[in-house]
Amino acid sequence: MADAFYRKKDHMKTIKRREENRKVDVTQIIRVDMVFDGVESKGWVHTHGMWEAFGLPDLEIVHVSPLFLMPTAGGMLNHIAQYMVDGVSPGNKTGAKPLALGEKMGLGGMVVVKFELAEPLNKNDLDAIAGHYTTPRWRAVPVPEMYECAHPAHKEEKPS
Ligand SMILES: [Zn+2]
Repeated sequence: MADAFYRKKDHMKTIKRREENRKVDVTQIIRVDMVFDGVESKGWVHTHGMWEAFGLPDLEIVHVSPLFLMPTAGGMLNHIAQYMVDGVSPGNKTGAKPLALGEKMGLGGMVVVKFELAEPLNKNDLDAIAGHYTTPRWRAVPVPEMYECAHPAHKEEKPS
């Protein structure tokens, strides 16, 4: 049985009609769940509320080290969710653009993610499927092809 950890503010507010240019704080509206099955397991960090409040896909990151990187993964999802909402908000002045599946997104520093359509990791977990995969959900995944090691011995031969 997996334990679920919730952000303290786990309520969902009805979104008010927002004034133009007024930035919505998505963390006040969406919830981030952090689910894992013991400290040696791989955690599943995911949002609820993006679809209901904004008509945008919910998000997830899988295979997260629990009790270590889960809060960081949750922060990433909040950041991505905020960008997605800003990107479709009329007159937003944040520079955010609508995101699409397959698109790459830089998160500052070294981190680049891209988005895939999320599918349940366990096709037999019908409760998890019913609660999470009946509406659109994107999985943020790493983009290893964006990186190469700077050490000369590790440089890949570039095809000419
Ligand atoms: Zn959940």
